Parts: sequence; structure tokens; C-alpha cells
Amino acid sequence: MQFKEMGLSDPLLDAIGSAGYENPTPIQAEAIPHLLMGRDIIGIAQTGTGKTASFTLPMIEILSTGRARARMPRSLILEPTRELAAQVAENFEVYGKNHKLSMALLIGGVSFSEQEDKLDRGVDVLIATPGRLLDHFERGKVLLADIKVLVVDEADRMLDMGFIPDVERIIKLLPQIRQTAMFSATMPSEIKRLTDAYMMSPRTVEVAPPASAAETVTQGLLRVSGGFKEKRAALRSLIRESDVNNAIVFCNRKRDVSALEKSLRSHGFNAAGLHGDMHQSARMETLAKFRDGEIKLLVASDVAARGLDIPNMSHVFNFDVPMHAEDYIHRIGRTGRAGNEGHAYTLVTRDDAKFLGGVERLLGKPIPPIGGASAASGDTTDADKSDSRSEGEVGAAPRRRRRSRRKPGAESKTTENTPEMGAEAASDSNGNGDAEPREPVRGGTSRDAPTKKTRQRKEDRDDDGGDAFGKDETPAFLLR
Ligand code: AMP
Repeated sequence: MQFKEMGLSDPLLDAIGSAGYENPTPIQAEAIPHLLMGRDIIGIAQTGTGKTASFTLPMIEILSTGRARARMPRSLILEPTRELAAQVAENFEVYGKNHKLSMALLIGGVSFSEQEDKLDRGVDVLIATPGRLLDHFERGKVLLADIKVLVVDEADRMLDMGFIPDVERIIKLLPQIRQTAMFSATMPSEIKRLTDAYMMSPRTVEVAPPASAAETVTQGLLRVSGGFKEKRAALRSLIRESDVNNAIVFCNRKRDVSALEKSLRSHGFNAAGLHGDMHQSARMETLAKFRDGEIKLLVASDVAARGLDIPNMSHVFNFDVPMHAEDYIHRIGRTGRAGNEGHAYTLVTRDDAKFLGGVERLLGKPIPPIGGASAASGDTTDADKSDSRSEGEVGAAPRRRRRSRRKPGAESKTTENTPEMGAEAASDSNGNGDAEPREPVRGGTSRDAPTKKTRQRKEDRDDDGGDAFGKDETPAFLLR
């Protein structure tokens, strides 16, 4: 099916053309016609499948007639994080360029007063995180009695973050007669309960998860003997040998993000870091520069990069094999999106080898070795030499790995005949060092103990809910 066969109007088709889209993605081909018919849908799809356009395009069409009244938005999109909310707002700007729809963004970090002025003028589309929306509601600044379309995006992530009670409270404030779309990568029972309770004969639309979407991604493995220093050199060679347009380089540890970013820059690469300890405004700024092509290499941790939509990435480099196999799928899903070609290369040292087995089991096949790329080239600079951690680690006397740390069955052949990892690395690899806290795996497959999961929810909540930046620091694209 093509966009023009879907019943979308010419102004919308023009905006889709300007965005450079030729054909709808599978979720768009399935969801758009149903939503245009006014039906409720459950979309089982991940970020990267084109799901945002699958609800924004029909919403623009549906909302193109009619006018919003003061403080009474006509549609509501709930997002778990402010970054995702901001991305959806950007999507509306791109696809709605030929429409005069008004939009407000109620998220932590954006000043109340400015968004309230917008609400007072009447908005067609309200995009919000649940907590912030309830704040505005309780202050009497927004009424939800005129909502005709509700989208709950990333519902399973809302669940992970403990937002479901807020979501449910919000739904109860909406008119019963409305159209509802719910998107989720998985369907845990709690989400199923919501769809049963609050949706009208929904149509379920499901697209392949990234594990199979990764067919568009060429994967490769580069074995590196040595430690952090050798890995950095190997990465540089690999980047130089690959035709990189833009890439994320994933590290398992926050401190490696900073050290690697510094090292890459000292070697003349256009790189910046993104990790959970950074101030929210600095994260948003770095991300905006990466999206605009001002930064070519984004060195990031899993938590910092989770859920972010970064279009047209040519490469993903796994500087470390992720500790949790599912993270490998999330990472490589950042490239090869929407049918584009992508490349995902993974560096493996002795320290990483124990995690490789889990990844390859999840993939159901080994990652093929990279052909021509050379390993550590040894072109170290003063910046590298002054990196005491890497020198210490590389030079450290080999130590015996403690048996209890070994993950059963996850051992890979590469551990034979190479030095054992040092105690420091062993501690980090097991999450006891400064590795970032990991979000619970969706759909009840998490190996995290319940207490850890509870703590994680709190951490995520803090991350999203706080007023991390004031009005003056708010990135311009959020204020539009
Ligand atoms: P999403 O899953 O909504 O985060 O979208 C992932 C990426 O796919 C975004 O960068 C979109 O701009 C892009 N995209 C969405 N729809 C299409 C399409 N029909 N053709 C090409 N790219 C698309």
C-alpha cells in the first residue's frame, strides 16, 4: 500500500513527501487506515518502526476540521519521558506543516506559564507526560472533557516506570466516547487489562520486533586482544575503515563514555558523550547537535540512549558487548531503521567474551567476524598515555577470575589462552562498579529482583519528573 492509497489529504501527502518518505512502514500501512476510520487500535511496535507517524498522520487528518476551545485540548498523547514527548512534538511539526494545528507540550523542564498561555488559546494536540499533565489538571489549567483522540505511547515503558496509576487516572477524566490508540512493544497483563477496560473493540496491529527488523543491519565482530587502550585503537581503525555518516558508540560504563569521548576527540574525531549523570539540558543539547549532524559520533551508555529517536544512523559500534543480551538488540535497532541499511560492529576483548554467548543465543546465530578491519593499531597519543585507568588496566598483572562471577553457559571460546580480566573490570562487569542502572526488561522477562525493579522505577521517575532546566535553558525546539 502507498501513502496516497490510504485516504490521506493532499496537504498531508505533501508533508510526507517533504519528509522524504516514499512508502509507509508496515505499522503505518496497518494502523493509519484503521485510525482514519475512527477505530481503536493496539499497536504492538517498538521505536524505530515508524510508529510515531502511524498515529500522528491520521490525527492531523482527523483534527484538520474543527477548532479547539480555551483550555480544552482536542487530543492527548501520553508519553513516558520528556524526550519522547519532545520527539512526538517534532513529528507533528514536520507532518503538520501544511495544517494550522496548535500544540502544547506539558513535560518536566518546560515552564508552566508558557504552556498555560498556549492552553488558554486552545490546543488541538496536547502531548504530555502523565505526572505533568495531572499537575496542570489539578491546578485547573487544563480540562480534558473535549478529548476526542487519546494515544498512550510506550505503554509497557509507562508500566516499567510506575506510571500506570497516573495513566489510568487520566483516562478516567476523559469522555467515554473517544478514539483510543495504545502502543506498546510487549503486552504484559497489566497493559492488557487497560486495553480491555478502556478501549472499544480495538484492532491489534503488530509488527516485527527489532530482532527480526535487524535484517537490514549488517553485523560484525572484531576481536581485540588487550584492554581499554587497545580497544580504543581498534575502534579508531574501524571507524576510519567504515563509511560512517553518523554513529552511536555504546559503552557499558559511564566513566568509559567520558574517557572514550575524550580520547576520540584527541584523535580528531567529531565526538560527544551522553550518559545518565549529565544535566538534562546538556543531554538535550548534545542530542540536538547529533541530530543536526553537528556531532558525528555519539558515545553513549544504554540508559542515556534508550528510547531516543535518532534518524538515519549509518553505524552502531558496541565498544563493549552489553551485559544484558536484550540491550544488544536495542542498540543495533538504532541503525537500519525504516528499511534503511545499517551496520552494527562489536568489539570483543577477553572482558567482553563472557557476555557474547548470551547475545549470540538471543540472535540464534554467531555474529560474523569483520573481514578487513584491523585490530589495535597502536597509534596512541599523549591523551591515551595519560589515561591512567587504561594504562593501569592494560598493565595490570593477570588475575584469576572468581568462579561465582561467571555466567553459566555464557562463556565464549575466546576466553581461552588470553589473560584473565583484572578485579576492577570484573566488578564493573557485574554491575557493581559504575555501570548505569538498567531499565527493567519489559514483558516480565526481567532478571532484576523486585526490589531492584522498584528502585529503578523511582530513579526513572526522578529522571523524568524534575524541573531539570529552567525556562531560559529550555532548548529552542521544545519551546516552538
Ligand atoms: P519511530 O518508530 O516513529 O521512532 O520512527 C523511526 C524513524 O523512521 C524516524 O526517524 C522517522 O522519521 C522514520 N520514518 C517514519 N516513517 C517513515 C517512512 N514511511 N519512511 C521512511 N522513514 C520513516
